[in-house]
Amino acid sequence: MEQSTVPISEQVREVAKATMEAMRVPPAEELSPATAAGSAEADTLRAEILRAGRKLWERQYVDGNGGNISVRLGSHYVLCTPTMMSKCDLELADICLADMEGNIVAGTRQRTSELLLHLEIYKANPRARAVVHCHPPYATAFALTGSAPPAGLLSECEIFIGPVAVAPYETPGTPTFARSVLPFVQDHNTILLANHGIVCWSDTVTHAEWLVEILETYCKTYLLAQQIGRPLLPIPEEKIAEILEMKRRMGLPDARMDRLEGRG
Ligand SMILES: [Zn+2]
Repeated sequence: MEQSTVPISEQVREVAKATMEAMRVPPAEELSPATAAGSAEADTLRAEILRAGRKLWERQYVDGNGGNISVRLGSHYVLCTPTMMSKCDLELADICLADMEGNIVAGTRQRTSELLLHLEIYKANPRARAVVHCHPPYATAFALTGSAPPAGLLSECEIFIGPVAVAPYETPGTPTFARSVLPFVQDHNTILLANHGIVCWSDTVTHAEWLVEILETYCKTYLLAQQIGRPLLPIPEEKIAEILEMKRRMGLPDARMDRLEGRG
């Protein structure tokens, strides 16, 4: 057997270089749709979508095939729930991979028609990495009146959400509906959709689902508090200012942040 003339140190260096190359995981945006769909990151995000979908269904925030969930995968792709499926019944293989124009690039199911809404939010606000849309009854009750519950009452809601915006009614699934939230997506992570439901964005699917829970609980609690027949007790202005300081440190949006900055 012929001996290699390459010094051992050089052979080791070559092997190390090849190993490093093999271990390099390029960001998802460099990947083809098929490779992105098969990536470990995509697997993790699909599982997170399933967990959130199950929570939405168990808490009765979605009915029939209602509601939808999406999350960004790198710069070029979005994983999203399919159309015409209960959020209770989702399996990993049901999750669609779409590009930023809404074209399905991997998966066997049709995407939700509301992906257009999600895509408008992602394009308008890069901080939005995940979007959840659903129809929780108490929050949707406010959406039927075209009004939001007042801000400044419940600390949990103040910290994570703040004032809630209301987007005007448009026909679901249309581009006009998708764009109806654009005036609000910078200052609000939670938006009521008039005569329809709500939409929330955050850094992860889990956190966007939390916003749904927080708003729904607030709407329910607010209506219960009104039954007591006593005046509601607002959080003092200076304490709201403390919350806004906290939110700025946490990187959470709030339509009142300008007021804080104006305060100097
Ligand atoms: Zn809907």
